[in-house]
Amino acid sequence: MVKTPAEKSAAAPDLIRGLPADTEVPDQVRDSGSTRPKPAPVPGVVPAARPAAAPAGRPPDLPTVWSWLADVPDPEIPVISLVDLGIIRDVAWEGDRLVVTVTPTYSGCPATNIINLDIETALRDHGIKDLELKRQLSPAWTTNWISDAGRAKLETYGIAPPQPAGGPQHCPHCKSADVERVSQFGSTPCKAQWRCLSCKEPFDYFKCI
Ligand SMILES: [Zn+2]
Repeated sequence: MVKTPAEKSAAAPDLIRGLPADTEVPDQVRDSGSTRPKPAPVPGVVPAARPAAAPAGRPPDLPTVWSWLADVPDPEIPVISLVDLGIIRDVAWEGDRLVVTVTPTYSGCPATNIINLDIETALRDHGIKDLELKRQLSPAWTTNWISDAGRAKLETYGIAPPQPAGGPQHCPHCKSADVERVSQFGSTPCKAQWRCLSCKEPFDYFKCI
């Protein structure tokens, strides 16, 4: 059986051992006596890459933790992060414990448990061991808490951001204000379905609460 170079390098070390001496194999499994020069390291590739964990003994500062949370997507609308959504109310160290305070978007939102799990997974991947998630129900989250960056990302994604008037300002695709509501219920409970009468495209409107 003839293997392509890609298959050889992808093979497990114990499968490589029986191959001819000139076969390219990782250094650690090559027989002694080989004169083959060590391949130059590939720029930008760090061996055994792991998520940037905090240095041992030194807890990450709060801006760093916020930046990690800004990378956690909203499970329902992955184009915006949980920070864009405005549901992370506070991040604080209490001794060695990191306490993250979260306000759920609204009761009955099926994503709430997933959001907590995603926060926990992200922070543990960054080396946070002692973590507490606090739920803060009051004041209740409103769509006003969505950041300007988050609103812009929603529109780029084709979702009209919430407006105090209760309906979309304009079509997220062509910006026409000539829009009509199709249904109060969209692809998720927090969205309504609208349609643009100018470009004829349907779009979701993030309901204002
Ligand atoms: Zn349009």
